[in-house]
Amino acid sequence: QQRTNSNQITSYIFSTMGEATESILTINNYIAGKHTPPTTNEYIPVINPSTSSQIANVAISNSTDVNNAVTAAHNAFTSWSRLTVKARSAIMLKFHSLIRENANELAELIVLENGKNKTEALADVAKGNETVEYACSLPQLMQGKIDRVSGEVTCKDRRDALGVVVIIVPFNFPFMVPMWTLPIALVTGNTIVLKPSEKVPLTMNKVMDLIEQAGFPPGVVNMIQGTKNAVESLIDHPLVKAVTFVGSSPIAKIVSERCHSLNKRCTALGGAKNHLVALPDCDVNGTASDVVVSYAGCAGQRCMAASVLLVVGPKDGQSQKALLDAVIEKASKIEPGTEPGKMGAVIDEVSFKKIMLYIEQSEKDGAQILLDGRTWIEKMKGVGGNYIGPTVILHNSKTDKAMNEEIFGPVLSVYHVSTWHEAIEIENANPFGNAAAIYTTNGGYADWFCSRFRASMLGVNIGIPVPREPFSFGGLYGTRSKYGDMDITGDGAIEFFTNRIKITTKWPAPTSPEYMLGEERQE
Ligand code: NAD
Repeated sequence: QQRTNSNQITSYIFSTMGEATESILTINNYIAGKHTPPTTNEYIPVINPSTSSQIANVAISNSTDVNNAVTAAHNAFTSWSRLTVKARSAIMLKFHSLIRENANELAELIVLENGKNKTEALADVAKGNETVEYACSLPQLMQGKIDRVSGEVTCKDRRDALGVVVIIVPFNFPFMVPMWTLPIALVTGNTIVLKPSEKVPLTMNKVMDLIEQAGFPPGVVNMIQGTKNAVESLIDHPLVKAVTFVGSSPIAKIVSERCHSLNKRCTALGGAKNHLVALPDCDVNGTASDVVVSYAGCAGQRCMAASVLLVVGPKDGQSQKALLDAVIEKASKIEPGTEPGKMGAVIDEVSFKKIMLYIEQSEKDGAQILLDGRTWIEKMKGVGGNYIGPTVILHNSKTDKAMNEEIFGPVLSVYHVSTWHEAIEIENANPFGNAAAIYTTNGGYADWFCSRFRASMLGVNIGIPVPREPFSFGGLYGTRSKYGDMDITGDGAIEFFTNRIKITTKWPAPTSPEYMLGEERQE
């Protein structure tokens, strides 16, 4: 049996960080507590985005592998779900401290396979661990209700786990996004099959070792590697009760429709196109810093990243010019690399080429490239990696492709609008509905925008308005940012991962006086 354990990975990281590698890791499935090769015996390469060198081979699974993982989860379900919530959260608490102890190693793996910088990778781990922490408080949070609804009738409800649930995740947060659902699914009593992104399987491979150390019984957490076939087999498996998906909009839509056609609960978060609006009264320096962090952080590969900056007021207005100058000045200081403060490469060549096309097309459409990230191609010659620098495009037309489609790279589209209404019109017309933010020093102005934005996570002077638990995370229903049921994380996730069982009880009032002890107390 091929097995990659955490010791191998640790020595591997420190021997190969930033260099071309000779030893190639093998990342397998994890079924019933064992790292298990796929029955297909098929693997695909995992590439380090910063160097373009191969770092691992990851398994490609088929329906037989999926059946093995789902069966393991199903077999573990009865005993796991019958534990008390308190007993399950005690294991989660141990997992929480193991994550803290291993945060540095997890972050090194994230840097290696995802390409983000070390500070961002540590934040990926810390942010994910916040949901683990939240899940530890479920003994208080998932209690049912009880009420006497008429003379002799009482209603109560309790939350029961669904059964085997599937978690499908994207490449951009190798730790945090799986942790949005894994801890809550487990403490509410479900058993799981996780499907990491085939582009970043190393981090979750390491996490399986921590799962084991924390004391989760074999079969409670399983992991299937692979792509489309694995996802389809997971959704279709009759023992799978619910699916959470985070990824691009087209796949979110497919996953949601497939689940719902099988009457399975599904939440599927898709892509985004987030608008930031800057009013003339905004704090120029603070706004510029925040806009740059929002659009260039993690090389723009965040569903919460700023994508369009709508500057209210004339192009030659004093505050408008000052804001754009400050954005460009701050963004142009960013250097390429994975050290803290620098900006990493984008995930792969496909993504790199797609970003290039958006910049080229904008030029053809008559936009002005105020800051050109393509200069990094020359700068990084010989290093390898999919490096593209922070880019700022000033558009003349709001119909430019870059203004309207998800780019998922460090590109900011800027557009001048003359009125607040025009800003809202542009933001509302976009087909996504993930996040939006307003920059102003006036609370009343901020309220005006917050009651009109068509997005579900709103920021006031914050360009990455990620809600923390117990607030749930997710875009607006009916947009390309969210398909399926409910938000992810927070109290929405408790609802998602449980069935409410309602028990109505009628006990007739006692009629035999011989058992009554004395007179009934008068209120
Ligand atoms: P992706 O849709 O390509 O992949 C996501 C998952 O789906 C992966 O596990 C992948 O293996 C699987 N998959 C890929 N093709 C499939 C297919 N044809 N059928 C079934 N499964 C398939 O997304 P990505 O490129 O890994 O991630 C980037 C995208 O994720 C961006 O669009 C980003 O906005 C989005 N994202 C959204 C959120 C959110 O909360 N809304 C958070 C993070 C990322």
